[in-house]
Amino acid sequence: MTRRRSSGAIVAMLCVAAGVFQILRVPTSAQGSAPDLLFTNGKIVTVDERFTIAQAVAVKGDRIVAVGSSQEIAKLAGPGTRTVDLRGRTAIPGLIDNHLHLLRAGNTWELELRFDGIYSRKQAVEMLRERAKKVGAAGWVFNIGGWATAQFADDRKPFTREELDAIAPDNPVALQESYYQVFLNSRALKEFGIEAGKPDPPDFVPGSIQRDAAGKPTGIIRGDIAATRPVAARMPKLAPERLEASTLQLVQDVNRAGLTSFGVAGCDAGVLEIMQRWKSQGRLPVRIFCIGGAAAGSPEQVERSIPQIAKMKLFQGDNYIDDVVFGESVYTPLHDRMFAVDSDPTPDQLAQWRRMAMEIAKARLPLHVHAELRNTIDAFLDQIEAVNKEYPIRNLRWALAHVNQINASQLERMKKLGMYAAVHPWAVINGAIMHEGFGHGADDMPPLATIQRSGITWGLGSDGTAANQFLPMTALAFAVTGKMAGGLKVINQTIDREDALIAYTRKNAYFVFRENELGSIQVGKLADLVVLDRDYLTVSADQIKDIKPVMTVVGGKVVYEVGSKQ
Ligand SMILES: [Zn+2]
Repeated sequence: MTRRRSSGAIVAMLCVAAGVFQILRVPTSAQGSAPDLLFTNGKIVTVDERFTIAQAVAVKGDRIVAVGSSQEIAKLAGPGTRTVDLRGRTAIPGLIDNHLHLLRAGNTWELELRFDGIYSRKQAVEMLRERAKKVGAAGWVFNIGGWATAQFADDRKPFTREELDAIAPDNPVALQESYYQVFLNSRALKEFGIEAGKPDPPDFVPGSIQRDAAGKPTGIIRGDIAATRPVAARMPKLAPERLEASTLQLVQDVNRAGLTSFGVAGCDAGVLEIMQRWKSQGRLPVRIFCIGGAAAGSPEQVERSIPQIAKMKLFQGDNYIDDVVFGESVYTPLHDRMFAVDSDPTPDQLAQWRRMAMEIAKARLPLHVHAELRNTIDAFLDQIEAVNKEYPIRNLRWALAHVNQINASQLERMKKLGMYAAVHPWAVINGAIMHEGFGHGADDMPPLATIQRSGITWGLGSDGTAANQFLPMTALAFAVTGKMAGGLKVINQTIDREDALIAYTRKNAYFVFRENELGSIQVGKLADLVVLDRDYLTVSADQIKDIKPVMTVVGGKVVYEVGSKQ
């Protein structure tokens, strides 16, 4: 529990941005028992167990101290209390993504031209032109996933080499569509040494460089993560002195989207160090719960990993930064490849997987493991059931992550084991690509209604920022409508908006082991909440994707407000 936020900081942050809300100024007093901050006259969607709707919230320090009617809460004001009049607006708990590669993204965020939330190809082309101008001749224009051509509602066609040449004749361009393919222009091909009549550079996956009948490269590199990796590896690196600014831009973008806490797959040391520093200065605006551990890629590495697992210590941090779970890989040869339509785990591989899992269970560590395809999920559950007989895993919160091809009987097996499902619908951007690969099989990837009905503890996340986009409202809209970013209907099974919101807040608090601290607007919990520009519960389903936070609060501090200078 951390209670070191000063009310002075809250005062300072509110003053910068008094534009949107009516803030009643009262003389400041740092001491006293009255709340520091009140939100009144709103529709407070608490997401508590009864899904209570309230009107007002009181915050003292970093905690929620009262939730109730505006009349009741207003009475709590003391001389130093600030009141934010919500004027009827809806507030929800701070959104939690249970699986985002957030820290990795800090290394490229400032350099990337991101298409998250861009649903017009025309607009994307404009952005390309502007970025080319901004970086100047020979500067790279690129992104590393997080979007797909099918999200462009006005025109879903792929980019061609010639088109990108015309848009940015003087710049190398590399646009990575999820982990599916990369679009390059002629300058980029030249820089990579990919030319007609020349052999492919040796680090590219054979066959991934698309060529026409005459052998001329088309500008498309296609395959999966292994095919796109050599391009990403060639992108310009951020200067070390820019890492902090890039990370700041990233956390501002996620706060602007209403996200406050994260299960972070892979806590990159350089970015984590910056966040540790911000934390010590009382200005870290996100909560980081690391998913990490010594995954093995071969039987020899399993030998080396096992003693490390025994020594692994979790939960040494606090409510801002902590290590909470082993993952997301256990034995990498069994890591389902994105867009693979089938998997065939071998007995040898599974034996290695089980040795690792046995050790993780023996060390009583939580586990969050990448598992996507039906065969893989079955095979992992076979192993976990065997492990469970020797070292019971109940109460360790083991979770399968992604699980787009999960079915009802697998959910039942998981429930019996006391497991969780971390659902990351890749179809939010990849729905059209998945339909190409899986046909109608993609209609139920993921089977959201089946998952909800199963009664398992499950949460929604994105798996961004390359495999997926990161905007939670786009993901919530997908869960409610079955429509991917840009509006194509790609899945059949949808859930109601209350269940979707619960899965992005209170349920994800379990995944980060903070169900007593986060995930709902309740007395005693940390004051993380988001004020929205329209009501999530009553706007038409097709408008959910357009909802914008107007204020994001973390630990009682306003970390984003519309119209402020961010
Ligand atoms: Zn994964």
